[in-house]
Parts: sequence; C-alpha cells; structure tokens
Amino acid sequence: MTDAMTETLTETGTDYPHLFRPLDLGHVTLPNRVLMGSMHTGLEETGDWNRVAEFYATRARGGVALMVTGGMAPNREGGVFPGAAGLFTPEDIAHHRIVTDRVHAAGGRIAMQILHAGRYAYGKDCVSASAIKSPISPFPPRELDEAGIEAQIADIVTAAARAREAGYDGVEVMGSEGYFLNQFIVRHTNRREDRWGGPFENRMRLPVEVMRRVRAAVGHDFIVIFRISLIDLVPDGSTWDEVVRLARAIEAAGATMLNTGIGWHEARVPTIATSVPRAAFAHLTGRLRPEVGIPVIASNRINRPEVAEDLLARGMADMVSMARPFLADPDFIAKAQAGRAAEIAPCIACNQACLDHTFSGRLTSCLVNPRACHETVLRYDPAPQARRIAVAGAGPAGMAAAIVAAERGHEVTLFEAADRIGGQLNHAAAIPGKEEFAGLIDWFATMLRVRGVDLRLATPATPEALEGFDEVIVATGVRPRDPGIPIEPGAEVIDYARLLSGAAGAGPRVAVVGAGGIGFDVAEWLVERPGDSPTLHPDDWRRDWGVGDPAQVPGGLAPPDPAPPTRQVTLLQRKPEKPGRGLGKTTGWIHRAALAAKGVQMIGGASYDRITPEGLEIRLNGEPRLIPADTVVLCTGQDSVRDLAEALAAQGRTVHVIGGADVAAELDAKRAIDQAARLAAAL
Ligand code: NAP
Ligand code: SF4
Repeated sequence: MTDAMTETLTETGTDYPHLFRPLDLGHVTLPNRVLMGSMHTGLEETGDWNRVAEFYATRARGGVALMVTGGMAPNREGGVFPGAAGLFTPEDIAHHRIVTDRVHAAGGRIAMQILHAGRYAYGKDCVSASAIKSPISPFPPRELDEAGIEAQIADIVTAAARAREAGYDGVEVMGSEGYFLNQFIVRHTNRREDRWGGPFENRMRLPVEVMRRVRAAVGHDFIVIFRISLIDLVPDGSTWDEVVRLARAIEAAGATMLNTGIGWHEARVPTIATSVPRAAFAHLTGRLRPEVGIPVIASNRINRPEVAEDLLARGMADMVSMARPFLADPDFIAKAQAGRAAEIAPCIACNQACLDHTFSGRLTSCLVNPRACHETVLRYDPAPQARRIAVAGAGPAGMAAAIVAAERGHEVTLFEAADRIGGQLNHAAAIPGKEEFAGLIDWFATMLRVRGVDLRLATPATPEALEGFDEVIVATGVRPRDPGIPIEPGAEVIDYARLLSGAAGAGPRVAVVGAGGIGFDVAEWLVERPGDSPTLHPDDWRRDWGVGDPAQVPGGLAPPDPAPPTRQVTLLQRKPEKPGRGLGKTTGWIHRAALAAKGVQMIGGASYDRITPEGLEIRLNGEPRLIPADTVVLCTGQDSVRDLAEALAAQGRTVHVIGGADVAAELDAKRAIDQAARLAAAL
C-alpha cells in the first residue's frame, strides 16, 4: 500500500517514528503499528471470564494497537481439542462481551481469531479436504462432501457475525499454519478432484469463499484479517505465485489486512524458537507487500521495538505482530513510547511457560513474567509496611525476588559473590542459539537499577552481613554435581560451568556425560564455530535447516545443508531411553534434530566405569566400550549451594530459601523466577 493511503507521518518524538505512526484502516485508525498476535492461553477454558478480560485489558492499557484472541472454534469438529473455546451459543456471546467491554474501557481494540483446525483437531470427528492423517495427530480426518464444506463455511461466517455481536472490533480468519483452510490450499493435504481441489483456482476457492461471505456478513466497518501462509515448509506446499494469487483474491474478497503465517505445525523447521533468527521470515512479508493494496503484517521472532521499527522503516510491512512479547511485558508499547525500552521485559522465545504449557494442557504464563495470565491472582501490590530485605545471590531467583520486593516498596539489598549478576543465566547466554538470554540479564540489570535495589557485587553474603535486616532471602543457587566417576591421571575432565565460562577448553573429540537440558546445550556449543552462531546469521541458519525460497521450491522446503561440526561429540546418559525425552515439549525436537544434523552420537543406557586419557570407558548392555575422547564434559545435574542457609539456620535465624538453593533437581529459570516472584509478592 502507498503511504498516501495510510496516513501522514506525524511527529511523534519517539525513538521509533514508524512504530508510532497511526494506521488508517478506513472506518478506524489504529494508534500504532503493533498487533498482539493470537495466542492460546487456556484462560477461556477455565470459565473465569473476569480473568480472561483482565488479561486482555492489561495489554490494552499497555498501548498495543490491536489484539487478536486465541483461536476460537467455529464449531465442535473444528476445535483444536475437545472442549476448546468457541462462540457457539448466546451464553458464549455474553462471556465474550465481558472481554470486549473491558478492553474498550481500557482504550484498546480486539479482534477474535476464528480457528478451524481441520485435521489438526484432536478428536475423531475432525474433517478436512481429503482423508489424509496429519503426522502430529492420531486421528484421520473425514473427507468433507459438498454439503459438508458448505456447512463449515456457514459456521465460520456465523462465528464472525457472533464476534461482531459480542463487541469485537474484528476477526482474524486463520488461513495458515496448516489448519483447515490451509489444508484446502495445498496439494499436500488436498487430493480432491471436484471444484474444491485440483488446479489452484479450485484449491483457493474455500478461503476466498470464506472471506467473501464473512465480509458480506459483518459489513464494511469491521476489521477482517486473513492470516496467509507465506511459506508452508511442508512438501507440496504453495509456490510463491500461488501465495500472491491467493493474497490478491483474498484482498478482492474483502480482507482489511493480511497477517503472516509461517510454517505448518507439522513442519520440521523451527519457526518461533529462540534459535530462530530475529525477524527471520519478514523478508517474505516484504516481498508480498507490493503485490497487494491492503496492509500486510510481519510476524515471527520480532521481540524488540528496534526490530519492529527497522522492518517498518525498510518497508517490509505495514504492521508487526508480536504475541509472546506481550506475555513477557504487557507494557511493551507504553515503555517503548516513553523512551524506556530498556525496561521492556524481553521474551526470550524459550516457550517454557507458554507453548510448552499450552501443549501439556496447562495454563499459559511466561518464564520472565509469572503474572502473565495470572493477573488477578498474582499481584504486586504496595507493601503495607516497607521493610529492609536482604537477598543473597543475583541469579534469576535472587534478582526476581529483589525486583518484585523493591517494586512493592521494600528497601532491598542484593549480595552477589561474583563480580557480575546472572548466575546460571550466564551459561545459557553462552550457548549458540540462546543469545536472547543475554538480553534477559541486561533487563535484570536495568530493573535492579530502576527499582533502586542496592546491588553489591563481589560481596559474599555472610551471616554477619545479613544482620539487621527484617527479612533474608537465600538464593545462592547451585553448583555442578560431581558424579564420582573414577578419573585416571592425565584424563581431561571438566564440568559444564568451567567450559561455558571460558575457564577451560575442549579437544576435538568430546564425550558429554549427562543428556539433560545442559548436556544438549553443551553439545550444541561444542559443534558450532566459536562466536559464530547461525542464529545471528540468518542465511546460514536457513541453509542449515533447509529453508528455501518459495519462488524456487514449493513451500520453501529445500534440502537441509548443515555446516560441518567443529568437534566430534558423543552425548550419554544412564537412562535406557533416547536422550532428550525430557526436553521442552515444543523445543526438544529442535535440539535433537540440530545435534543429529551435526553427527552427534547419542547413547542411552550407559553406565560409566572410568575416564582415562583415551576417553570414557562405559558399559552398554553389560558390554565394555570405549568412547574415544580428548575431553570429557560433565553435565550431570546440580547440587544446591546451602552453606549460607545452613549457617543461618544454625544461628536459629528464619530465612526464605528459593531457587536452586531450595531444590536443585530439575531447576530452571522458570521455576526459580516464579518461586521468587510469589515469595516477594507476599512479603
Ligand atoms: P538434568 O536435566 O537433571 O540432567 C542431568 C543429566 O545428568 C541427566 O542426563 C542425568 O541422566 C545425568 N545424571 C544425573 N546424575 C548423574 C550422576 N550421578 N551420574 C551420571 N549422570 C547423572 O540437569 P541439567 O541438564 O543440568 O539441567 C538443569 C536444569 O536446567 C534442568 O531442569 C533443565 O530442564 C534446565 N535446562 C533447561 C534448558 C531448556 O532448554 N529448557 C536448557 C538447559 C537446562 P541419567 O540419570 O539418565 O544419566
Ligand atoms: Fe517468551 Fe519464554 Fe515467556 Fe513464552 S515463556 S512468552 S517464550 S519468555
């Protein structure tokens, strides 16, 4: 679209002039260029509509121009799972009205996403273009006949009309990510030979018909976004010509805007994980933009205002969509506008508290912000009485406790034995593909300063130093566990902390003992060129994962061509199962695939005899075996550092012990920050 069609540039005086340019959509003008993308939070399914409303109203108050709800099913068979929220009855409309009223009172705008899951619906009644089962679902879909297709269209149109009745400002029709409409668009899932299949004009008939009838039903003063798949990343996906044809047809059928969809859920290419380069797919939105006359919205791994500003300034999009960043910080926009961007809590794209929760049936939240989706139950209200609080340890638990306590008005002193903050987060930030963790440490540093926490680096918290405080929080963290494997003289054995802190190096052949999250991280560190993470080099990253150009290969699916590993690595565990089963639900496959692509050998069911200068001697099914290695890296979990807690307890002093100092087993930053925030909210 041309600039003249949008608006005139107003002098905003912000660091992000393009981000804060209003966007004129005809019947309505959005105040800035940021859309909160659709996320399934699980809140609707709790039935607590006050809580749903507060989630969205909090983000509306934070200044985002337009929000899209989690996907709402247009009918039972289209629900992502049995009981998925939708808009089926007059009672449903009343519930949604609570949300839209609250959002409007907060000065925001909200559109409802209509999500028909097609063969991704987790149930035996699922339907699709053809009876082809998805690799990520146990349920083969029923192939719809002509009447069945008409019924689905009617339900989607009814959902849109009900959304209007419920007070929404618009709808987003989900046409990407491999859901129902996308299943009709590509040959991969559409083998029909009637007017809904075969040549492209037939395969795009369903989404275009849906758009045409939705527009007719809702009128012209209502936002209708179509989420279009720009790169399917599955075999037989859309070609770029087809993407453009569909986009133009959807525009002609009445769409207000086109949002970007990237990759099907079954694609074996990561699209939103932390190892995906920032804005890795925005060039495709930029390529679509001149082909249509309506605004286009860029999406995926955009998590900072400067990234969004850069895309808009370069004409890659008219708007940017960010979803998870609004879990991490509902005030993202307000802070960016006020020149306080450093205070924006960063989404590190870990998926640990959001998508991993969603896919295991738990309420969504956020590792960085435990209040996300818990706005009504976890509150940081001003403390009735300000007290002097000491925190020992500036890892994630200690820093989070200090910041929340200080936000509530307490006077907080934070002791850290090392000469820098961050604790275990520093190890994570050293891993290629986990660069976002460095931004999280920076944010903690900013917030400690902004909240006025008295930070004392290189100052171990001794019992004497902690005297005179009203409350003491011990967050002294963990130390690497020594598994007690016999070591012969001359063998090179180090723990992960020494490796990742740069205190020790590793030879060309490495055995990694322990295949938990850190064992996998260390293996990734070992096989990549030092300081040359593909996440920071989008072209390398695309080549590694086989992300091609949809103008050259259908669906943008090219053969992966990973760079050769820099070391020969063997990753071992004792459990007699495939290593990596305990990794994150939505990210574990990425780590397993990345290491397999680098030729990392993974061994489960090992028992360790000894470490010699030749390598690691193990037994597999009772048979002795040598894993030749110049260096053995121990990633065998952690033990709590409790010296301080025990010394204080011996003096009869009552303290709060949190994070790894409390329980080291399966500790991660999510649990540490959550526990710290809940404690500090109650002090
Ligand atoms: P972990 O997940 O508990 O894994 C420890 C590994 O060491 C396991 O493979 C365990 O497997 C082995 N092990 C434990 N005790 C041993 C012993 N005495 N002798 C030999 N092997 C032993 O711990 P981690 O890898 O250190 O990770 C710590 C925490 O950080 C975890 O909660 C993890 O989830 C989190 N983290 C998360 C991510 C992420 O991406 N989300 C990344 C890094 C870390 P066997 O007992 O089968 O040998
Ligand atoms: Fe982002 Fe991780 Fe929070 Fe999800 S849990 S919103 S990925 S920081």
